[in-house]
Amino acid sequence: MPGSRAKRRGAPSDPRVDALEVAVYRLPTDRPEADGTLSWDATTAVVVHASGGGVTGVGWTYADAAAATVVRGLLAGVVLGCPVLDPPAAASDMARAVRNAGAPGLVAMAISAVDVALWDLKARLLDVPLTGLLGAVRADAAVYASGGFTSYDDATTRDQLAGWLARGHDQAKIKIGESWGTAVPRDLARTRLAREVLGDDAALLVDANGGYTAKQAVRVGGELDDLGVVWFEEPVSSDDLAGLRLVRERLDCDVAAGEYGARLPDFAALCGAGAVDCLQVDASRCGGVTEWLRACAVAAGHQLEVSSHCVPALHAHLGPATPNLRHLEWFHDHERFERRLFDGVVEPAHGRVRPPADAPGLGLTVRSQDVEDLRIG
Ligand SMILES: [Mg+2]
Repeated sequence: MPGSRAKRRGAPSDPRVDALEVAVYRLPTDRPEADGTLSWDATTAVVVHASGGGVTGVGWTYADAAAATVVRGLLAGVVLGCPVLDPPAAASDMARAVRNAGAPGLVAMAISAVDVALWDLKARLLDVPLTGLLGAVRADAAVYASGGFTSYDDATTRDQLAGWLARGHDQAKIKIGESWGTAVPRDLARTRLAREVLGDDAALLVDANGGYTAKQAVRVGGELDDLGVVWFEEPVSSDDLAGLRLVRERLDCDVAAGEYGARLPDFAALCGAGAVDCLQVDASRCGGVTEWLRACAVAAGHQLEVSSHCVPALHAHLGPATPNLRHLEWFHDHERFERRLFDGVVEPAHGRVRPPADAPGLGLTVRSQDVEDLRIG
């Protein structure tokens, strides 16, 4: 019977999850932000603490505050009593528990925050870094700086890119596809500006967030190829597998998508359709560490590399344990939020990040007193 093993009474050497708490924080952006298909002025983080065996782990997702309601209402009762040493047992029980609520989207984000907290808890209980618990493939991982919002004026874009170079980044991504693909001349002008600032010091990546139609993306992409762009993310909607494939086959630059993947079939569909050159996976959306590992294996089975989407303070610990990792996204909003929210955030250097070998779990502690003013739930 599902869950029966997880809920059986545990011996002292078999600690169980005995508390699950959730909090919501909202941090305004440092200036108005937009990509090709959305604009925003704040970021919301739903943060979960899971305890057991006298230890507490932390996990989080960038989701609407409603994800906290899902944690409290649908997941907490399922996870309490689960074995701390077996996060996949809780993941399996959570997946079953949300059948009628619908797994993708908000629910998957809530599950992700809990799953990450449970993996952090296990690693802390064993007093090992999460990367070490998973098994490191390499000591560090490549990162690319990410921001370059369509709402920025040229001076702001230039300053941000120059700042990244000064910090040693050698790969950088800007947003294009402004106003649902209706501002192509400005998209290309901003791409040329980025190319000029980065020079030969950094690779240039772009993300249209699904703002173009397929043939439009091919036309824009031809110009991007001429500018040496190496990565064209979501040239069309990630639901348009045929469109992604068309763009991929017609351009030199790599096509990437996957940031909305919430279930393994989402990733299998992208890979199986030949829609991407590199699969994006977000552990804070797809089901946490448990599903990150499986999604990356799906990509590996299709001879594809993966790249993490956002949440740098989390993925910094997963990347080095992922054999087919290309790089990690070092997203401006989340880097800023995580520095504010946590003590122990790891910083990249020379375009790479190395999780500390001596900090258990994710090595993060919520700066509770300092972020009380950001708390909204
Ligand atoms: Mg994206």
